[in-house]
Amino acid sequence: MVDFRQKPDICKGRSALRRVYLDHNATTPVRPEVVEAMLPFLQERFGNPSSIHSFGREAREGMEKARGQIAAAIGADAADIVFTSGGTEADFLALKGVAYHNRSRGKHIIISAVEHHAVLDTCAEFLTAGEFDLTVVPVDRSGIVDPDAVRTAIRPGTILISVMYANNEVGSVQPVPQIAAIAREHGVIFHTDAVQCLGKIPVNVRELNADLVSLSSHKVNGPKGAGALWIRPGTRWAPINHGGGQERARRPGTENVPGIVGFGEACSLAVAELEVKAAELRRLRDRLVEGVYEALPGVLVNGEPERCLPNTAHFCIAGADEEAVLTALDAHGIAVSAGSACVSGSRAPSHVLTAMGVPAEAARCSLRVSLGYGNTDADVEYFVQVLRQVVAHRER
Ligand code: PLP
Repeated sequence: MVDFRQKPDICKGRSALRRVYLDHNATTPVRPEVVEAMLPFLQERFGNPSSIHSFGREAREGMEKARGQIAAAIGADAADIVFTSGGTEADFLALKGVAYHNRSRGKHIIISAVEHHAVLDTCAEFLTAGEFDLTVVPVDRSGIVDPDAVRTAIRPGTILISVMYANNEVGSVQPVPQIAAIAREHGVIFHTDAVQCLGKIPVNVRELNADLVSLSSHKVNGPKGAGALWIRPGTRWAPINHGGGQERARRPGTENVPGIVGFGEACSLAVAELEVKAAELRRLRDRLVEGVYEALPGVLVNGEPERCLPNTAHFCIAGADEEAVLTALDAHGIAVSAGSACVSGSRAPSHVLTAMGVPAEAARCSLRVSLGYGNTDADVEYFVQVLRQVVAHRER
């Protein structure tokens, strides 16, 4: 087993500036084992998996092995995995595929207020086109949906509920099995976006009790441009793209074989190491949060550690300028994400922070730190030390 704490050489060929990557919810470095697994499919095993000759068969073999690896990682059957270009496509394939196919049954969809834009914007398009009605259920101060609020929102004509498993900004983990059970009780199809979960918390489609689950490769130390949608057999869903018959016509288009092979390998590694890795990430994250509390008394930490992804810390620094803090951290080689969005040149709280009721003033400087493969105690210490300096300097 590879020691995941071993520092990957992600800074190879760059300047001597110390660089610390703490933005794993945005994307992750591709693990060396994954690159190794992919290489033959970028070189000699380049065939089209739909071709019947030996080149095609070799490519298909790699792709089907990956389908099995991904299925095993989520407790699914390989036949129910549909490859996509990533999490975004998996989300809209789920939403549009269910919504359009069930129009005759009803027009009402329920989502949570903290969904990723892949879900939010697909639903916004439904609304703009006047095709469907939408109910957006709120979250509490920790970013968690109350299953009873979902139950209350269900009405005759509700065809789909989509609530993400874990939030990408604050890391809140939703009570998905309970929400899925409510959906099932009412005969409503349930989708969950589990893009942020692989390798951080267990993802088992039977335990989640969902009908459709979205996944993405580049969040789990696989390459970009690959993802998957798991569809429970018998789900009232239809494809939305047309073309060749790939993926049993569920998602036509020549598959990204090297990407898929890498995704499969990344899933196998993530699942094999999940327990150890999650515990280590949690330890580092808790240490980081403690350090930030000490360095910046009065800092507001968002989310509840026990109901949050083990790798994610999100906090607001009152009175600081977010852009200046991010730029200064970057100048010290530290990569983290902003917690707010740039709206017409000024910073506004993200829809997630707004939904959680974080006051706009507090949210003005918010940071997301997300740990992952290769991070060490030294990275955490460096981050806390630099943040302390940067904020003290800005306040002077
Ligand atoms: N869903 C969630 C929760 C995400 O965090 C992301 C990426 O940030 C996506 C969907 C989109 O995934 P991809 O980048 O693979 O399209």
